[in-house]
Amino acid sequence: MTDEGARPPRYVDKSLAEDVFLDDEDDDEDDEDGEYDGSGEYDGGGEEGDEPPPWPAGSQVSDAPRTHPCWSCAADVPSGASTCPECQESVRHLRLISTRPPVQLRHGGCGPLNLGRHPSWAAPTVAAALDGERGVSRRHASIEMAPDGGLWLTEHPAGTVNGTFVNGERVPPGDRVPVADGDTVRLGTYCAFTVLVVGEPPA
Ligand SMILES: [Zn+2]
Repeated sequence: MTDEGARPPRYVDKSLAEDVFLDDEDDDEDDEDGEYDGSGEYDGGGEEGDEPPPWPAGSQVSDAPRTHPCWSCAADVPSGASTCPECQESVRHLRLISTRPPVQLRHGGCGPLNLGRHPSWAAPTVAAALDGERGVSRRHASIEMAPDGGLWLTEHPAGTVNGTFVNGERVPPGDRVPVADGDTVRLGTYCAFTVLVVGEPPA
């Protein structure tokens, strides 16, 4: 009993020793920092002497009409607008994100986005991105955003050797099948795009 009663002081001593040890570590770090600050070229910056930059005038920012950059042309699009006033592209658009090949395609409401390796059927950038991808046909499939905001995928009517799949389900050639946000569109065996829909559907 008496031995146990004598233990708390030891515990306190230990914690005190740890605190002292930690303080020593902090002191060492501070000393090292001081040495580096003293000998480094950054002293020329004179951060302590300069006055802090004025805080941005938040009231002016919030009073201005809220806009966001067009995903297609980067022009200012007023908040709530359905189309870009500069390029007329729909604010609602889709992103096709693939890790193989590592590519991200964006497409709005202006006609179908053709996916394939043929540089005059698909957009040159798309054809270039898919060039060399095994299993992707020269004219593989198209994805389109309808005026009501719905997404539709069509495999080329001539068909493809390795098939087109939505969430693993094969799409018959020429059929128009719905695609939704989060779906996976696969061209052939390896090339798979995750479909992301950005923006609200038309009211
Ligand atoms: Zn635009």
